[in-house]
Amino acid sequence: MTFFDLNQQVLRTDASGMPLEWIDFRETVRLYTQAQIAYACGSLLFEVRGGYSAKTGLRSVVEVNSIIATIGRTPGVAALREDYCPPLNNKTLFRRDANLCLYCGVRFMSRDLTRDHVTPLSKGGRDSWTNVVTACRRCNNHKGGRIPEGAGMQLIAVPFTPTYAEYIYLKGRRVLADQMEFLLAHIPRSSPLHARLSTSLGKKGEKGTLTFGVTARLMAR
Ligand SMILES: [Zn+2]
Repeated sequence: MTFFDLNQQVLRTDASGMPLEWIDFRETVRLYTQAQIAYACGSLLFEVRGGYSAKTGLRSVVEVNSIIATIGRTPGVAALREDYCPPLNNKTLFRRDANLCLYCGVRFMSRDLTRDHVTPLSKGGRDSWTNVVTACRRCNNHKGGRIPEGAGMQLIAVPFTPTYAEYIYLKGRRVLADQMEFLLAHIPRSSPLHARLSTSLGKKGEKGTLTFGVTARLMAR
């Protein structure tokens, strides 16, 4: 039940609607009281009741919506540049790959997954988004210090660097449908995430963008 869930994250955007970050309800209320909110959209998550006004005798109520656009400075304009590269960590890496081992195509719990360097660090590979994939322990052990070809293995999807909007999606906890829809508009159609979000929103994915469709077929065997 999301309506009363105070842990639900709010998507903050700038005044032009560019996604910026996830904030909690306290931060949202703070932005309201500091008149930093340009407009709210998405769904009403909950109402936060404040004190009574001495002047009017009325109690203040702040409505917290799932998406809020704020005025003022953005937290890092560099983040919105096209060559932005988000920090790499396992949590977002595993989410990028939908918790699938990109070698055997099986979905695992995060604790059973590892970060595999496609070209091993010992062979000059880098610890970067385009050289790392989610792998189960078994596949990672089997591959060892080899490149996939050397180990007779094949990647089922191409590793990519998330854009800023994609990274925000990957960082989100329990992203609501309206937030997903909003982020989707900022994610390139060519992105595997675009296909995945479209699918979870019940929309038809574009042909050719369903990179993870390969996985679905592998798993159906
Ligand atoms: Zn595997």
